[in-house]
Amino acid sequence: MKVAIIGGGFTGLTAAYELVKKGHKVTVFEKDTVLGGLAHGFKEKSWSWHLEAAYHHLFTNDTAIIGLMKELGLADRLITKRPITATLWNQALYQFDAPMHLLLFPGLPLIDKLRTGMLALFCKLFPFWQILEGVSAEEFFTAVGGRRAWEEIWKPLMYGKFGALYHQVPASWLWARIKKRTPKLCYIEGGFHTLVTALEKAIKRYGGTILTGVPLQSISIKKNCIYVCGRNAIYNSFSHIAFDRLLLTVPTPFAAKLIPNFSLFTSHFSLPLSIPHLHAQTLILETKEPILKDVYWLNITDRTFPFLAVVAHTNFMDKKHYGGHHLTYFGNYLPPGHPFLTMSKEQLLKKFLPFINRLNPSCQLSAVSCQLFTGMYAQPVHQLHYSQIAPKLDPPAGGPGIYLANMDSIFPWDRGTNYAVELGKKAAIRIMENMKQSHHGRATRDR
Ligand SMILES: Cc1cc2nc3c(=O)[nH]c(=O)nc-3n(C[C@H](O)[C@H](O)[C@H](O)COP(=O)(O)OP(=O)(O)OC[C@H]3O[C@@H](n4cnc5c(N)ncnc54)[C@H](O)[C@@H]3O)c2cc1C
Repeated sequence: MKVAIIGGGFTGLTAAYELVKKGHKVTVFEKDTVLGGLAHGFKEKSWSWHLEAAYHHLFTNDTAIIGLMKELGLADRLITKRPITATLWNQALYQFDAPMHLLLFPGLPLIDKLRTGMLALFCKLFPFWQILEGVSAEEFFTAVGGRRAWEEIWKPLMYGKFGALYHQVPASWLWARIKKRTPKLCYIEGGFHTLVTALEKAIKRYGGTILTGVPLQSISIKKNCIYVCGRNAIYNSFSHIAFDRLLLTVPTPFAAKLIPNFSLFTSHFSLPLSIPHLHAQTLILETKEPILKDVYWLNITDRTFPFLAVVAHTNFMDKKHYGGHHLTYFGNYLPPGHPFLTMSKEQLLKKFLPFINRLNPSCQLSAVSCQLFTGMYAQPVHQLHYSQIAPKLDPPAGGPGIYLANMDSIFPWDRGTNYAVELGKKAAIRIMENMKQSHHGRATRDR
């Protein structure tokens, strides 16, 4: 059977790998010139490692992606460390990655600290996220952890990430963030690019085809065949190619434009269109001086700052892999139409500089380079009863043979390469089951 996979991120590449292993003919179409999707990396001349355009690490319990690394012979390329996470509160940095740090935090009275500790413990131990889907994060976290803790700790982060939409986010989303977090974090030697390259090689070794720089432009269905049409930068265009099955791993708003009659197909598939999405933006500074001294991850709770998080990658991985320079991300999640989305990196840097100086007034900032990256529709905003509206593999999204599997599908979890790997595997299994069923159906009819 011939399968087309649209999108060369972790979901698409894993699905392709699982399918080619079982002998199917797979073609991956990726619109960008590089593979990896939101986890794609780039490398400056003086660096020996790639760096992700958006900050990336793994948790030690990310078993699906760690298992894939083992299968591809990359087990010894996983690096595990315990970098420092902190919060900027009242113009000072507070380390915030252990129960002791909560007790030392000056922003809450003891009773609220104890309630917050209980809430975190509850999230770690309580397994039934479905119950938390029907109540907003604000209601639940205020009821259990107290209003003051909500206002000081959780709300600034929720508001920073989701803006006015934070009211709609269910408690299950925040539960998942706390439950999944591990104090130790992992990174891949050479960057996530190491795993992307290993997957690419494995797919090609099994006979799969990967086309980069080829955005899919339309899908049509004729006589049980699915035809895809895209544009190839090298050959300028190619005619319609026929496949038996098609898996879309692109964000839902893109999929809706590609799948014929997406919203009409079944009432179920008009629902995913109601999920709001934010774009992710990262400004990456390569500097001679460190911007943050020891902290890897800094949450900004002061909403006058024009960014939500500062991620000092070289306080996690050694700067020697990056020409001896310090790498710092400034991250934001932005609604469509936000003015930052149309600003150049120079304009953004100018806007951010006074705030970067506030983080480290002694830092003589001499930027070696500055990069700007925007991931379109990179953050689905979970809604109450999200599991009922999220896209699912069953029934197929675009009618027989057309499947949709993307970041919106991995509830209750937030996005993550681990879940992309898990989802890619599930999608491949579902496609193979479906092929078997239709083969069996045809054989029974023919008898
Ligand atoms: C700021 C940020 C930080 C993150 N941090 C982490 C982290 O620390 N750890 C972690 O594990 N995960 C993290 N993630 C999440 C992780 O990157 C994603 O969950 C994962 O990469 C999603 O993979 P995917 O294949 O499902 O989707 P994507 O990576 O979005 O892949 C979809 C692919 O489809 C392609 N495409 C779109 N339209 C077309 C078309 N018409 N034709 C052909 N191709 C098309 C896109 O170019 C893309 O390559 C982060 C994400 C962001 C944005």
